[in-house]
Amino acid sequence: MKHLPIFLDISQQHCVVIGGGQSASRKISLLLKYGAHVCVIAPDLSPSLARLVAENQTSADEHNRATSQLQHIAEHCALETLHIKLQSARLVIAATKDAATNLDIASCAKALNIPCHVADNPEASTFFLPSIVDRDPIQIAISSGGASPILSRLLRDRIEAFVPVSYRVLGKMASEFRTTVKEKLQTARQRKQFWERALHGRVAELVLAGQPARARSELINSLEYTSRNAADPLQTDVHPEGEVALVGAGPGDAELLTLRALRLIQSADVLVYDRLVSQRIMDLRRTDTRIIYAGKARSKHTMVQGSINELLVSLAREGNRVVRLKGGDPFIFGRGGEEIETLASNNIPFQVVPGITAASGCAAFSGIPLTHRDHAQSCVFMTGHLKSQEINLDWSHLRDPSQTIVFYMGLIGLEKICENLIKIGRLGDTPAALVEQGTTPSQRVHVGTLQTLPDLVTQHAVRAPTLLIVGSVVTLHESLAWYRSGTTDENRNVSHFSGSGI
Ligand code: SAH
Repeated sequence: MKHLPIFLDISQQHCVVIGGGQSASRKISLLLKYGAHVCVIAPDLSPSLARLVAENQTSADEHNRATSQLQHIAEHCALETLHIKLQSARLVIAATKDAATNLDIASCAKALNIPCHVADNPEASTFFLPSIVDRDPIQIAISSGGASPILSRLLRDRIEAFVPVSYRVLGKMASEFRTTVKEKLQTARQRKQFWERALHGRVAELVLAGQPARARSELINSLEYTSRNAADPLQTDVHPEGEVALVGAGPGDAELLTLRALRLIQSADVLVYDRLVSQRIMDLRRTDTRIIYAGKARSKHTMVQGSINELLVSLAREGNRVVRLKGGDPFIFGRGGEEIETLASNNIPFQVVPGITAASGCAAFSGIPLTHRDHAQSCVFMTGHLKSQEINLDWSHLRDPSQTIVFYMGLIGLEKICENLIKIGRLGDTPAALVEQGTTPSQRVHVGTLQTLPDLVTQHAVRAPTLLIVGSVVTLHESLAWYRSGTTDENRNVSHFSGSGI
């Protein structure tokens, strides 16, 4: 690693590119975008480069000549006079078709102490043009030092997807308020804390949610609050920026998180999480994020719901950005509604981020579509959590054979559930699948019928969480299962009895 990434101002600077092909064309476009005055030396130009020269001349005439400029010298690169052409250049790019000529250009630039990039020759280059994620004024530059430009580009694409375009607005807002913040907050520490809060917290969230005007007033209020607080540390205003995000963490696989969930997890001060949130997802947090376990194993409630609701309120009142992380989707058997009712009645700002619910995750990863034109026209999500082993709901609406039924929390009551479905008129040979630890490397799919599944499951050391899917769609698993879990039968010490592919 010998190249220091720096950001160079090349606006109105003389840059020389030698070569007229595709590679030169791409690099010239980049230089022009950053306002350089480019001189391209080549006897012939590729069509795209010729177009660029023509366009640039037009736009240079119509607009401000000083912003960018492209001049073409239609001649071969003559080494004897090259040093004269390079003399006042800020940067040189050697992109001719001839590797030896490129090396001569590099030596000439080196002798003149001018940074030079040589196409397809990292060793001879003294600088590289990075792949860029442009969120002006924020620029993210990625380079592999010539080792693999394709890998840099792939990474760039991933970062593009991950960093919303509205970071531009956030960057501009930060730049606009820089001086005011400096005037209002005396110490560097105060300013650092203020900016960290604003750019991680509610101000950023509002910008990213497309509400720049509200973000602005939030920033102004927050600055007022912070400067008052700095002047009088004893004042006891409620911090304006505490908030809670109720976030669905999906069924287990960390890659099934939404981009927003990931962003909020990484900007949280405190994460309050459940038993179903996988370790791999927890590992995505910042190291300084405080974590509080509020998990609920069946009948072993670590924290009663009322205390969780109160905890969220008090953490937000202390000014924390709280992420309440729940398995799956917070509004599906997640008691998310109750938690935000308490927040709403206490005037705590909150948002809800949906997650992939276990039914969607398990269905996809076991190759069991929940609806299918030939099998099921509707699907219902049920809780299988039985109070005192009895089904205390009217199940007559579950009789329709063209309806898929998904039971959450159905492992303990599996036998009763199957028995009751048969009692209300579902056939005993109705296909049924129990998806164990769906979407994770330990996923297994146990397939049987309403009659056989309970026995099959008792023969195997099935581990929660599990999801029960009932209906003729289950037959599709045989042909559609695609996911290969990472756990072998040997290391689980039990045998597989699922269909193909798992
Ligand atoms: N809010 C969650 C559900 C919470 S109830 C969601 O939307 O998914 C907890 C139940 O969800 C578990 O008992 C189990 O039935 C189901 N579940 C959650 N994650 C699962 C997984 N990875 N595999 C199978 N079932 C899962």
